[in-house]
Amino acid sequence: MVFLIILDPVPMDLNNLKSESIVVLGGGFGGLSTVIALLANLGEIPIILIDQNERFLFKPFLYELLADELSLWEAAPKYSALASELGFIFVQDTVVEIDKLKGKISTLSKLEIKYSQLVISTGMITDYSGVEGLKDYAYGFSNLYDLGRIKELIARINCSSECKKPLVISGAGPTGVELACKISDLVNNRIQIYLVEKGKKVLQNCKSFNREKSIEALGKRNIKIYLEHVVKSVNLNYLELSSAYDQSKNIEMIDYFSLIWTAGLQPSSLNLLQPFLKGNKKIEVNEFLQINEFKNIFFVGDIAFDKLNRVPPSAQAAMQQGVVTAQNIISLRNGDKLRPFEFESLGEMLSLGIGHASITGYGITLAGSFAFEIRRLVYLMRMPGLAQSLKSTGSWLFSQKLINSLFFQYR
Ligand SMILES: Cc1cc2nc3c(=O)[nH]c(=O)nc-3n(C[C@H](O)[C@H](O)[C@H](O)COP(=O)(O)OP(=O)(O)OC[C@H]3O[C@@H](n4cnc5c(N)ncnc54)[C@H](O)[C@@H]3O)c2cc1C
Repeated sequence: MVFLIILDPVPMDLNNLKSESIVVLGGGFGGLSTVIALLANLGEIPIILIDQNERFLFKPFLYELLADELSLWEAAPKYSALASELGFIFVQDTVVEIDKLKGKISTLSKLEIKYSQLVISTGMITDYSGVEGLKDYAYGFSNLYDLGRIKELIARINCSSECKKPLVISGAGPTGVELACKISDLVNNRIQIYLVEKGKKVLQNCKSFNREKSIEALGKRNIKIYLEHVVKSVNLNYLELSSAYDQSKNIEMIDYFSLIWTAGLQPSSLNLLQPFLKGNKKIEVNEFLQINEFKNIFFVGDIAFDKLNRVPPSAQAAMQQGVVTAQNIISLRNGDKLRPFEFESLGEMLSLGIGHASITGYGITLAGSFAFEIRRLVYLMRMPGLAQSLKSTGSWLFSQKLINSLFFQYR
């Protein structure tokens, strides 16, 4: 299905757009930030955003959506609403081919769109390859489809009189840890949760304060942690754990309830991106987020990788890359010098169960319910489209909960 939001009252023929249009492929954090920054600086040039989904998803809010702490329209506005509010062309379709030489992309619905500059920001999805049985038996947690399945899982746990088998979460990075805490709260300790991590510690790449607070949060919820372990295989009834270093050692067969996999990602449009990949699971870019062969194509967000300037795969990095890419596209069009991308860390925030979070940034460390409110406010303010942001923030700013928490904080 193709869904177009075109602001011109005269129907627009996308096949015959002037070749000067800028096409952004993938409307996640990277793609949408690029579009918004371009809109602020370009006049008449058509900017076309193509995404296979109907809604932009603010992924850090997936936990809030799981707990019904936010509603769908707040965390996942429709692209159609953003397009008409901000003024870009939105095409809901899946891009299946990029013709780099002719400068055009083709979609599943047989649209062909020419570009003068192309931004590719298609993100990553859960990688179920590499472990036997994962594809059939594991849940992921990276999109609205996964959200629906995990909500059903939680409902099943809450409906059963007794859950003797454990829920296993593989991967103790931010997603695994945050999800373990949230699910534990949502099922009120009705099930034992196991967290499996192949490394020596949980949250290996996180700030020490946040790690400390997370370990406390996991401990309070009696979440059992298996460090230096991996899921070796899974079938309908059993899950096999082994040592991370030698898969023939420390084998434990677990009669499990469900498995959630947060331990690996791969590019979300693997076939499409194959020509750009060089062995790595990401696209190796230069300091301007380009590949050397095609200087009118930019790669933004989780799929981009610069070995000389590593940045954490995160929403904040993707957004910053989007802004620099928009500036560089304008420079390219004007024949000016491009600006290299430099990441500025704005801190780190983790959601740790219902109504709790931990924050480290700008010399501040904070954990608990006030940190939860700050995390939510900071993220809501970063929602694309100011009106959208204010609308969301407004609905929350006046909530009784916030008033109570501020009162508690300062009295
Ligand atoms: C549960 C969770 C919590 C997170 N929390 C945080 C956090 O607190 N802070 C933080 O900084 N980061 C967080 N992240 C990471 C952050 O969300 C990602 O780093 C960020 O989304 C990357 O942005 P992106 O633009 O590269 O890709 P995405 O946001 O994944 O967007 C990619 C888009 O491309 C579209 N697409 C893909 N292929 C095609 C195609 N062929 N045709 C058309 N459209 C296509 C997809 O539909 C999608 O909309 C979290 C991630 C998850 C899963």
